[in-house]
This record gives sequence, C-alpha cells and structure tokens, in this order.
Amino acid sequence: MTLTIAKEQRRIAIIGGGPGGLTLALILQKHGIPSVIYEREQEDKSHERGGSLDIHEESGQQALKEAGLYEAFQRLARYEGEDFRLFDKTGRCYMDEVVEEDVQGERPEIDRGELCDLLLSKLDPSTIRYGYKLDKAVSLAGGMTELHFENGFVDKVHLVIGADGTFSRVRPLLSDTDVDYTGLTMFELNVTDAANRYPDLAAFNRRGKMFALDDNMGILAQLNGSGRIKVYVSLKAEREWLEASGITADQPQEAKAQLLGLIQDWEGELQNYIRYADDAVLPRRIYMLPAGFKWKRNSGVTLIGDAAHVMSPFAGEGVNLAMQDAMELALAIVRHEGNTAKAIEEYEEKMYAYSSEKARESYDNLVLCFSDNAAPKFAELMNFYHGQHDGA
Ligand SMILES: Cc1cc2nc3c(=O)[nH]c(=O)nc-3n(C[C@H](O)[C@H](O)[C@H](O)COP(=O)(O)OP(=O)(O)OC[C@H]3O[C@@H](n4cnc5c(N)ncnc54)[C@H](O)[C@@H]3O)c2cc1C
Repeated sequence: MTLTIAKEQRRIAIIGGGPGGLTLALILQKHGIPSVIYEREQEDKSHERGGSLDIHEESGQQALKEAGLYEAFQRLARYEGEDFRLFDKTGRCYMDEVVEEDVQGERPEIDRGELCDLLLSKLDPSTIRYGYKLDKAVSLAGGMTELHFENGFVDKVHLVIGADGTFSRVRPLLSDTDVDYTGLTMFELNVTDAANRYPDLAAFNRRGKMFALDDNMGILAQLNGSGRIKVYVSLKAEREWLEASGITADQPQEAKAQLLGLIQDWEGELQNYIRYADDAVLPRRIYMLPAGFKWKRNSGVTLIGDAAHVMSPFAGEGVNLAMQDAMELALAIVRHEGNTAKAIEEYEEKMYAYSSEKARESYDNLVLCFSDNAAPKFAELMNFYHGQHDGA
C-alpha cells in the first residue's frame, strides 16, 4: 500500500524528446512508471530532424529491444547503409566497403526523424508536451526541482532528467562545467533526390557513407533514407574563424562558392558534393564536454545523452550512448523503485565508465581525421578496428 502511494506521487520529468528522452520514457512506460517529456519544438514532422545514424548492436539496438521495438526497427533499418568509401583529395581510394546482399551487419542505419517516429509510435501521446522550452531549473529545499518554461508554465517534480542535448538547461543544476569548442567547424548541405537528379554523384557515393579527408579538412557524406545525400564540409578552424570567413546561412549561394574555393584543388567528383547541393548551408561549430566529465550527485536530478557527454561525431556513438543511457537509467529506476538516489548512483557510475571511453575515442578520431595524411591513417585505424572485431 505504501509503495503504491509512493509510486503514484513521484513525478518524473524528462527535458527533451530526442532519441534519449523518448527511449527513456518508453522503457519506463513499459514498466508502468509514468513520466512527462517537455520538448521545446512543436510536433512538426516537416522540419529538419537530422541525418542518418548507425545503431549499434551492443547499445542502441539493446535499448530498442528493451523498448519492445527491435523487430519494427529491423524492418526500417538500412543494412546497406554500412557501405563505406574513403578518399583523399586527389580521389585516391583507401577503403571501398560494400555490404553484400542479404547480409545483416551490426550497425545498420536509420534517419534520426524515423527513429524518433518509431519511438513515438509506442509512447502514450499524453506523455509528451510540445512547445515547452525549459528556461531554467531551480532546486528546492527537500530535493524537488522547479521547472520554469519559456511559455510561463511552471512544474514541480521529484526527479528531473536532462535529455536536452549539447546546451542542456538542466546541467547547470549539477555542474559549472560548460561545453568546449572542439576546434572543428562544419557546414551542413543536402543533395536532394540524388539518384534522379545527380546519378553521377549517387553512383560515386553508393549506398552509405563517403569520407574524403585531406588538408585538415573533410567532406563527410551519407545517403539518407529519404534519398538525399547529407554532406558535412568540415574543417579545423579557430573558434572565431566562422564569423571572419563571412560564410553565412542567409547567403547560401555565396556560401557554397566560398566552400568550393576552400577545396578548389580537390578532385571534381568530390567538389560535386557542394556544387550539386541545395541552396541551403547550415554552419555549425562542434562542441564537446571534457572526456570523463562527472558532476556532483543529486538524488533528484541526472543527465543522459548529449547533455551528459556530448562529443564530436567521430566515434559514431552519440545516439547510441543516448539510448544506452536511457535504458540503463530506466532499468535502474525500475530496480530501485522508491529509491531514486540508489537508481541514480547505479546509473551514473556505470554510464561514466562506458561514456568516458567513447569520448576519448571520439576525440582521438577527430584529431586523426584532421591531421596530415589523414586518409591513409584513418584507413589503418578502421582496418585495425575490423581486425579486432574479427578476432584477428
Ligand atoms: C553533425 C553531426 C553528425 C552526427 N552524426 C552522428 C552519427 O553518425 N552517429 C551518432 O550516433 N550520432 C551522431 N551525432 C550525434 C547525435 O545526433 C546525438 O548524439 C544524439 O542525437 C543525442 O541524442 P539526445 O537525445 O541526447 O539529444 P538530442 O538529439 O540533441 O535531443 C535533444 C532534444 O532536446 C530538445 N531540447 C533542447 N533544449 C531544450 C529545452 N531547453 N527545453 C526542452 N527541450 C529541449 C531538443 O529539441 C531535442 O529534441 C551527430 C551529431 C552531429 C552534430
């Protein structure tokens, strides 16, 4: 009886309805534990919801199994999306991996929007409130947290979980540490309907990812499920370089011309990733938290995903860690129902160990990818990983 009352009275709020927050709410729901997600965006499927993500067997796929969505995921997953090509600026090819027909690899691809829709398809719609942007969170005496939203709404909860990404508004409750610029600036472009409009580029890119690395720069491209090729033109640059460069989102044609100028001595097929792109360029700096980042424990507040350990995308782990965190935290809450402090302690200790290892790997990969002779060095690294994995 006492337990039931405690269960009914404990209010859990998740800030952010990305892959991490949705997975968490869904696994809790599966175990009969209600929560509310506050998401700043509106429920609008038409806006940009991110590129293709590879979902790893040991983390993201495990979380989907816990959420009861693994079979549905397998039907959507693009196993052929694991194809990978690696070039230097002259067009010399260092890796050309093609997934064989009917082979199901361990890291199939799915678009971020599709993954979120999949998670939402099983979530009780009343769990998520759209258009609620957290402005600030305030710790109250007695351990509860007061949540203040930009629309004027205020809530009071026993447990708040920050799943609100890189610039988390929950993180300041736990730590003064802020994200650091990694030294990498990226320009996101899209080549829409590549197969029909630009068959030469589609044939060059094939079904998965293409990396071209040279001169401390990179063209990173991935075919998305929607048929567009998402392209990240990336370069090592001082933090202030972006403003000084004059490359801005509101002048996309000029921005594309300037980006082409940066790679004017690169092989023509590589330049086509910019030449054929739509007239929309999104510049972004890439941020990270220090590898091994920890915070002061609080029995009513914790973080998952990018809010806890944002890192550069060069270990391909961001979404997988977010989903693994969600699974570990949800299962700890289930195991220790009524004892949130214990659940948080168990989750955080486990998460610190696995995420810090990935954060170091991600940083090392970033440094390597933007160093001299990056393409052969990256090929060597990938072959080493493959060898390890095959038990060689
Ligand atoms: C260029 C790039 C390429 C990437 N490529 C890969 C890859 O190949 N593989 C991979 O695994 N990962 C990749 N990532 C990383 C991956 O996208 C993230 O790690 C992953 O989405 C993290 O999930 P999350 O749920 O923690 O946070 P997010 O996906 O960032 O979701 C956070 C959610 O919180 C909401 N939110 C934010 N602030 C507030 C607020 N104040 N109030 C309410 N809601 C809020 C946001 O709208 C969003 O819905 C890449 C990232 C970048 C930048």
